[in-house]
Formats: sequence, structure tokens, C-alpha cells
Amino acid sequence: MTESPKNILQCLIIGSGPAGLSAALYAARANLKPVVLSGMDLGGQVSKTGLVDNYPGFPDGIDGPDMVSAFQQHAERFGAEIVFDSATEVNLSERPFKVTTYSGEYLAESLVITTGAAVRELGVPGETEFTGKGVSYCATCDGHFFKDKNLVVVGGGDSALKEGIFLTRFAKSVTIVHRRDELRAGPYLEGKAKENPKIQFVWDTIVTEIFGDGTVNAVRLKNKKTGQEETKPIDGVFIFIGHIPSTDLFKDQLETDEQGYLVIDNKMHTNIPGVFAAGEVGDPHFQQVVISAGMGAAAAMEVVEFLEEEH
Ligand code: NAP
Repeated sequence: MTESPKNILQCLIIGSGPAGLSAALYAARANLKPVVLSGMDLGGQVSKTGLVDNYPGFPDGIDGPDMVSAFQQHAERFGAEIVFDSATEVNLSERPFKVTTYSGEYLAESLVITTGAAVRELGVPGETEFTGKGVSYCATCDGHFFKDKNLVVVGGGDSALKEGIFLTRFAKSVTIVHRRDELRAGPYLEGKAKENPKIQFVWDTIVTEIFGDGTVNAVRLKNKKTGQEETKPIDGVFIFIGHIPSTDLFKDQLETDEQGYLVIDNKMHTNIPGVFAAGEVGDPHFQQVVISAGMGAAAAMEVVEFLEEEH
């Protein structure tokens, strides 16, 4: 393969979750000298996950931050460069593609977008005011602050249950508040949560307001079926109600679906030749570490094909 002119990267990867770091590993092994823009959190959501218990090859599970570190070391061993910076603007109208970051500008013949997804917020009064003061979106980061405390977890999906179970390591009690009477989470986590003596469920209920005095001290709950409301004294609120794909950077340049996910084909191609996407930013369905990692590898393999076809 011919080398790109100086200063023009062959492959720039935006995002450093499992998809980004796997893409980096595969692109580095193909000698593309990829650069990875890490974004704010190296490792993305996995860096904030406690135990990853379903990644093949780790029968005892692996802590999220340890997994990120292993992914990083693996990609770097083959020459990937990970830069602690975030993209602020992209121009995909011509090649080389131009990516502006906080500290400079990159030109790249191909891009792999692995920007993942950001946490969805409840949007209720008190949420923003008390974020970091009792409201959290990350059990791994903040759980240890709540030793022997009473917590509310909002959500009924796998994240709410998994992180709720994790929080029982510290908390005295965890009340999972779900807006329906049926969980979205799978049966394994449902079973684990229901057999945990520290966990109770409040069904058909939403949090309408979060109160505090410096830090959180109560939530207002509303039963959706009966309309009944109550104020529940509580020490902390953990919110796990899904994610919103991080695609703002690519607005009006890349095709997205009605939920905002990047539209990609089964080979990780976006609608612009040379721009690939992998992981949760283009995966509304599975959202699993192993699948994101696989998508990242596939995207990098397609980058290799794409660049080779040109020479
Ligand atoms: P999710 O599956 O989309 O679940 C979000 C939950 O939040 C749902 O129960 C939803 O209620 C509720 N919700 C959404 N908006 C809400 C609002 N405004 N107010 C109150 N509740 C709201 O998201 P997730 O749990 O983060 O999981 C995302 C993906 O990752 C899934 O594919 C999941 O399987 C996967 N995951 C897997 C594991 C694992 O260990 N296997 C762990 C974590 C995540 P409704 O049910 O009523 O819609």
C-alpha cells in the first residue's frame, strides 16, 4: 500500500470504546498507523462499568477499567497512537477528511467513527442541580460514596438491574423504580436482582422531582396507574434509562435513523465512502461490548479494503 502524503493519516478513529480500540488494533496490525481520538473518557462506557461478565474468554468476568486498559495496551503494542483529545468539528465533504479537535486538526484518508452513546437524562427538576451531589449515572464511579445509604435506581433495563445489583455492595437498600410493571432486562439479571435481599422494586412509577439540601435527600414518585404521589426520603439517585447516540458532530453529513443512530451497512460503511462507523453509535439493537469490538474490527478491515482498492 502506498503511504499517504505526510501529515495525512491513513486512518483516524474517533472514539476509544471497545469498537474504537478494536478498530485501532486491526488497523495497526494492517500497518495503517491509526490515530485514536480518545474523547473525554478513554474506554467510553466500559470505563464506567463494574464487572463485565459476558465477554468471552473471561469466565470470572473482568472489571471495566481493566478491560479498557487491556484493549489499549493491545492496540498500542501494534503501533496505534491514542491521543487524549476530542473532535469538535468534522468536514466530510471531501477527502482527506478534516477533523478539528480541541488541540489541533487532523487530515485522514479514512475515518472510523466509534463515538458511542451518551446517557439519557430524566429531565426532571433537581436532576441537573444535584448531579454529582447525589444524582449519578455511574455506579462504578460513585457507588462507594453511598456506603450504608438508601438509594433509588431508575430504569428497568439490563443497566438498571446490573448497576443496581452492583450498588448493593455499598448501599443499605436499593429501590428500583420502573415506569412499567414488566422489566425490559433479561431473565438472568431479573433473577439476580429479585433474589437480592437489599433490592426492592417499585412498579408503574416515575420520578417527577429530586429534592435536596446541598445533597439529595428525597425523590417525588408518581404511580402512573393510580396517579398517587409520594415523597420518598433517599440518599442518592442512580439513573439508567438508556442512551442517546453521540452523533451531533456528524449532523447533516452522515445519514442517521429516526432515533439518531448512524446508518451503516453490514460492512460498517456509512453513506460516505471512506467513512465507517462501529459500536453503539451505529447499533441501536445489540449494544454489547463483544459486538462493538467485533464491529470495530470489521470496520478496520473494511478501511484496509477501501484504501487498497485505490492503489
Ligand atoms: P434500555 O434497555 O434501553 O432500558 C432503558 C430502561 O429505562 C427501560 O426499562 C425504559 O423503560 C426505561 N426508561 C427509558 N426512558 C425513561 C424515562 N424517561 N423515564 C423512566 N424510565 C425510562 O437501556 P439499558 O438498560 O442501558 O441497556 C442498553 C443495552 O445494553 C441493551 O441492549 C441491554 O441489553 C444492554 N446491556 C446489557 C447488559 C448485560 O449485562 N447483558 C448490561 C447493561 C446493558 P421501558 O422498559 O418502559 O421502555
